[in-house]
Amino acid sequence: MSKRVKVGIDFGATRIKMAFVGEKGGLSYRREISTPIDAKRSVLIDTIASSVREIIEESGFNKRDIIGIGIGVPGPVDSKRGVIRYLPNIKGWKGVALRSILQTKLGIKVALDNDVNAMTLGEYRFGSGKGARNLVCLTLGTGVGGGIIINGEIYRGSTMCAGEVGHIPINEKGPKCNCRGIACIERYIGNRYIIEQARMVFRKGITLEDLTDLARSGNKDAKRIWEDVGEKLGVALTGVVNLLNPDRIVIGGGVSNAGELILRPLRRGIKIRAMKDQALHVKIVRGKLGDNAGIVGASLLVG
Ligand SMILES: [Zn+2]
Repeated sequence: MSKRVKVGIDFGATRIKMAFVGEKGGLSYRREISTPIDAKRSVLIDTIASSVREIIEESGFNKRDIIGIGIGVPGPVDSKRGVIRYLPNIKGWKGVALRSILQTKLGIKVALDNDVNAMTLGEYRFGSGKGARNLVCLTLGTGVGGGIIINGEIYRGSTMCAGEVGHIPINEKGPKCNCRGIACIERYIGNRYIIEQARMVFRKGITLEDLTDLARSGNKDAKRIWEDVGEKLGVALTGVVNLLNPDRIVIGGGVSNAGELILRPLRRGIKIRAMKDQALHVKIVRGKLGDNAGIVGASLLVG
């Protein structure tokens, strides 16, 4: 067995996923558990630590075989100090030095970053971003997250808050967003807003999967809803394309399962609106690593 192995952990608000990640991005001993979101913080940290111990035991690896553990968390992080700023969807995590806590518990080097940055690194190295130098990665789900790679490195911004594509406003006036902004793109295409829209159109509760199936079987109303998502995202991303001139934009996350239903109007919108050179150069593609992007990417946080 390879001695160059890392552990990647994708710590989400609903699921915690982890695995060993090999040099070429392959996973082994993958494990997924529900996040005990109502448990005390110490219990949650112990759950993560004991799951890591279990996969190490299962694998037969020696601690010495493991280069390190990378963990991506759902919120802003001071990655240099290894401290979580706060987690918007899990209470009680403000200022937690998770890197050193896990390092002490496990006796293995730990690296910590935001989950979207981790996912961005994963797609960049082993997924749809392979070969790009400048890349923007989006995750479409409850929220709209974004990560930026410039010249092969994550761009973090002055206070480590860069990449918030979801909070680009697409209108002067509009609905208020949690971030305190107005008419942020997330406020239109976050999954619960799409579901709300669908409920109004179909006058009944409908899941995103149903909406995708309906659109694929030719239902005009369902198609129109996805088209609207793509068009709105196209407005926001036109600004991104003009500003950053990326090689590629990689779209992942649950909402992106609608695939071409969103991507077609999105590409069209950018082609029409963005400046010519930028628009001609950029490729807009779906993420390749799917559900594992966060695990693979987290392992890449380890130097
Ligand atoms: Zn916002």
